Amino acid sequence: MGHTGKIYVISAPSGTGKSTLVNALCSVDQKVQLSISHTTRAIRPGEIDGVNYFFVATDKFEEMIKKKEFIEHAKVYDNYYGTNINTIHKFLASGKDIILEIDWQGALQIKNIFPESVLIFILPPSLDALAERLYKRNTDSRAVIQKRLSMAVEEIGHAPEFDYMIINDSFEEALLDLRSIMRAPRNTTQNMLEIVKQKFHF
Ligand code: ADP
Ligand code: 5GP
Repeated sequence: MGHTGKIYVISAPSGTGKSTLVNALCSVDQKVQLSISHTTRAIRPGEIDGVNYFFVATDKFEEMIKKKEFIEHAKVYDNYYGTNINTIHKFLASGKDIILEIDWQGALQIKNIFPESVLIFILPPSLDALAERLYKRNTDSRAVIQKRLSMAVEEIGHAPEFDYMIINDSFEEALLDLRSIMRAPRNTTQNMLEIVKQKFHF
């Protein structure tokens, strides 16, 4: 058996730097596939439908819930977000590691369905730093930012339920931590044995 992809779930309070980290990871690691969620939130400048998310209307999303088309879904900051079953099966079949960038509620649901999945929580260096990043990102209104900040404290309270924690202070260090967590399992004897046996004929 060759390397079979693992599922990694990455959660962080909005503004922590999760998307920036995951995008940097994807550009240096070809064995990683980022999952694409469905959402009802408004598309932000620079985002592309079908790349960042599948952007759908609320009635369409609710219809998909009824048809049980989501492995998990959650209402985050007044919008629906969900992981579509077909998307995951399609990506799993490719043999790559899959990253789900979802909130803590969804992360725990994924762990229940896929106990082998690895949950990683990314933290900001402080709440002040988080506020600064949200304002600097300049993608959300002041009211939305205030709401996200007040939720961050509650979200961070769920970090202990995750397998790993990474503090995104120095971006390069945090990226290295993330890469280390994801690379080590590829070299387990269980994953390597077939390849090594074929190479060395034993
Ligand atoms: P998230 O996906 O967690 O909501 P983003 O990836 O959009 O967060 O990052 C929020 C902002 O913080 C962006 O403007 C990003 O460039 C910035 N950022 C990310 N990581 C760091 C870091 N280690 N130090 C300083 N700023 C950062
Ligand atoms: P944003 O609107 O900033 O892209 O994301 C807001 C929040 O929704 C983030 O905490 C993100 O992790 C979460 N999120 C994105 N996709 C999903 C999903 O498919 N399921 C769940 N449960 N949360 C998601």
